Amino acid sequence: MNMARPKSLRKHDVPPEQRLVRNEQTGCLEWSGCTTKKGYGMVSNGNRPVLVHRYFYEKWVGRIPKGLNVCHRCDNPSCVEPAHLFIGTNADNTADMVEKCRQARGERHGMAKLTLTEVAAVRSARAAGVTVREVAKQFEISIGTVSLIANGKIWNDTLTAS
Ligand SMILES: [Zn+2]
Repeated sequence: MNMARPKSLRKHDVPPEQRLVRNEQTGCLEWSGCTTKKGYGMVSNGNRPVLVHRYFYEKWVGRIPKGLNVCHRCDNPSCVEPAHLFIGTNADNTADMVEKCRQARGERHGMAKLTLTEVAAVRSARAAGVTVREVAKQFEISIGTVSLIANGKIWNDTLTAS
């Protein structure tokens, strides 16, 4: 990997990657730099401040579909570990997003392969034009499952029951 420092970075700036610390107990990759009041890490991307988990998601996983959020499975706002992040549906406010992410985490303990939030996210992602292949990779499910969910052939009962 080329670790060369881009010319645009001033001498005292360190690359965002160097501000990440692995939490051995939780597996979280935590941001040790500046955070918002709610604990989300912030980084400057060019001149634009961005949330670090979004920054690293786009860097390591792929483009975030327009209008969708990057949520945490681990409930740790400063975490940027790709395995702990997933694309969630657009939320009206942060509280709603946090609640959805918590719910997703809770359902992980059950037998469900995908949480309700993820099923909704699969549908949103497909509706937003994300390819079936990309969605399947992101949620670690088969392409066939993505199609079935997107077409409403499965999970409908579960969704309407909640
Ligand atoms: Zn985490």
